[in-house]
Amino acid sequence: VVQAQGGNASQCYSLEMNAKAVERLAMEAELRYAVERDELLLYFQPQTLIPSLQVIGVECLVRWQHQGKLVPPFEFIPLAEESGLIIPIGEWILRTACQQAKAWQAQGMPLVVAINISARQFQHPKFFALVQQVLIETAVDPQLIELEITEGVVMQDADHTIELLQRLRGLGVMLSIDDFGTGYSSLSYLKRFPINKLKIDQSFVRDMDSDQGDAAIVEAVIRLGHSLGLTVIAEGVETAAHLAALEQLGCDELQGYYFSRPLPALDAQAFLQKQLLPESIQ
Ligand code: C2E
Ligand code: MG
Ligand code: MG
Ligand code: MG
Repeated sequence: VVQAQGGNASQCYSLEMNAKAVERLAMEAELRYAVERDELLLYFQPQTLIPSLQVIGVECLVRWQHQGKLVPPFEFIPLAEESGLIIPIGEWILRTACQQAKAWQAQGMPLVVAINISARQFQHPKFFALVQQVLIETAVDPQLIELEITEGVVMQDADHTIELLQRLRGLGVMLSIDDFGTGYSSLSYLKRFPINKLKIDQSFVRDMDSDQGDAAIVEAVIRLGHSLGLTVIAEGVETAAHLAALEQLGCDELQGYYFSRPLPALDAQAFLQKQLLPESIQ
């Protein structure tokens, strides 16, 4: 929008805004073909038990292979959400993740595969039917599938959400709340949600050894989760000090660079096979 009285500054500003909008539109147009051009890729990050560091699951994290670059999710997931493209993209992610879980299951590596579900995807009227269909189609053990939902999503329209979560649990899948602590959870609702796991947001873990406030939040979430009978996993675990502190606080599981970065499926598999083999034949 060019302002009538505007000098160079506001004109530059509007041109820049225009350029951004054009770039966005171009990206959206490209993203529209990402699924059919087979440009999406799933990475997998191990999740381990504390303190044994035995791998029990992986979180799948999407990447977009586009024009020779590997585009991280924060650069296209918000756009996919706003444009509605998250519906076909999310369907591809769900199906591919379930196929991978089934393949690992068939190879004797029964790992729980956690899948991020965006708000718009969760609220889509056909979401439940899609999950049901993909479970049947891939014949994966539903207990090996975990759906990660953020606090903000579950707190909107809580009654409807509880019913949907119950139906999903009825399919046998696991449910977790991602980035816990960054949203606005009503504790009384949390009690009513049929969920299995809380994922402590990495922003609290990062400075927990230097920031007493963060350490207090991590401790409180672990206690809260345990008192509600939930498993608690810490995200963004980067150091041995993080692990030691989390172990001391009784945290159940960890995920983070300290153990492994997210890896392409084959690398994740090699990494996991090495883990699963007895020491003597490694
Ligand atoms: P998230 O679900 O909370 O995923 C954790 C993010 O933290 C991942 O970033 C992961 O690579 C990163 N991470 C893991 N360990 C560490 C660590 O030790 N230190 C630090 N600094 N970071 C760590 P990524 O893959 O870039 O994903 C970012 C976000 O994008 C995810 O946050 C999730 O909200 C979204 N996302 C990723 N994949 C999907 C997807 O398949 N579907 C949807 N709807 N959203 C996705
Ligand atoms: Mg997640
Ligand atoms: Mg998270
Ligand atoms: Mg996040």
